Amino acid sequence: MQAAMITDDADVRARVRRILDRPRLCEEREEIWTAAAAGGGDLPHAEATYRALGAAGLLAPHWPRAYGGLHADPYAAATVAEELALHGVPDSVRVNTVDNAGATLLAAGTPEQRARHLPGMAAGTTAFAVFYTEPEVGSDLGALATRAEPTGNGWRLNGAKAWNARTSSAEFAICAARTPGGGNKYADISLFVLPLSAPGVHITAIPTINPEVFFHVRLDDVALPHDALVGRPGQGWSLLSQALGLERTGICFAGRARRWLDRLIAALRAGGRLGAAEERHALRALDARVEACRLLAWRAVQDVAERRTGASSAAAAKWWASELAQHVAWLSWELLGPPPAGSAGHPLFPDLLLAVREAPGLTLAAGTSEVLLNTVAADLLDGEDPWEREVV
Ligand SMILES: Cc1cc2nc3c(=O)[nH]c(=O)nc-3n(C[C@H](O)[C@H](O)[C@H](O)COP(=O)(O)OP(=O)(O)OC[C@H]3O[C@@H](n4cnc5c(N)ncnc54)[C@H](O)[C@@H]3O)c2cc1C
Repeated sequence: MQAAMITDDADVRARVRRILDRPRLCEEREEIWTAAAAGGGDLPHAEATYRALGAAGLLAPHWPRAYGGLHADPYAAATVAEELALHGVPDSVRVNTVDNAGATLLAAGTPEQRARHLPGMAAGTTAFAVFYTEPEVGSDLGALATRAEPTGNGWRLNGAKAWNARTSSAEFAICAARTPGGGNKYADISLFVLPLSAPGVHITAIPTINPEVFFHVRLDDVALPHDALVGRPGQGWSLLSQALGLERTGICFAGRARRWLDRLIAALRAGGRLGAAEERHALRALDARVEACRLLAWRAVQDVAERRTGASSAAAAKWWASELAQHVAWLSWELLGPPPAGSAGHPLFPDLLLAVREAPGLTLAAGTSEVLLNTVAADLLDGEDPWEREVV
């Protein structure tokens, strides 16, 4: 069925809300929060929600219709991302699959790679993990050590990846590895489509307090065909930097800050604890900061949409939004918690409890706070920004 034409971003927002308000999808969210707050296992994937959005062309609305999108602009994609955060729908599978792997295939994949993977990604039936970080390499990703050697039949990959989220929900990963050639540490990074079922891929969980389990992946002589390479050898750095665009605008983080603050205020009100004038005043000031953070994130979206160069507006927005969302989560804990063990019925339960557990990772994922501030400083000083470096 062909998805309907969209008119503007208010139309996109209304459509997403209508879908997310379906009783079955509200139930799915409650089930996910309750299961995750109870602990144990990975955060369940919101599969029914993804499929419903996908069927309406709304999981990747900015993609061409031929691949399951609506041929909309990047504002539509940001609107969807914001609504998912505002509704508390786990969105890392979408970020990894659509914003990272999908954007990369759309930019540089062969017609065969696009035809094979993009429609399933946009429909919510195919999920990708992102294998960039390594046990010894995070912020300085250009120092990655995983190698891809050419063989007569294709490529052989060896190395290790770490802190990869949502790997348990994925069938494939977009994987960064070093290929022969290149003149500096960025010039020989290449990207590959890696089936997680390939012999030699060993995946183990790294449990933390984060509601999403992280994974460690060992790649032992993993054989890939020629056509697993995305783009040209050595194009990887440029492609992965571009794909971080929307994630770096902070829109998902700003959405979390808004949702969690509204939940905190509602919980305080319900408990008759919103009376103290001083506390009310502090919460009003926080409310204004959350609104300002949303506007900052939308300005960064505008820069992405209008292809303005310079990463500092996105870096500033992601930094501010993730720090603020983290602050709101921890304030909830301070004002409402801590809950006794297994306490359904406590005002933090279930989704604010998940917020508290998610909070530490917010200022690490998609660029740590310190590294983002370096980017802002480099831009102010007119210095070189490593995330903007063009290698090709
Ligand atoms: C929720 C979450 C999801 C993630 N999902 C994925 C995923 O799906 N796939 C994937 O590949 N990776 C993923 N990661 C990993 C993430 O990309 C890395 O954690 C991040 O790049 C930081 O790397 P690191 O953890 O090695 O820390 P490091 O880079 O070692 O940093 C450690 C500390 O040093 C500081 N620091 C580092 N460099 C500098 C500098 N130049 N100046 C000042 N301070 C500096 C950092 O700010 C930080 O405080 C995820 C992480 C989180 C938290």
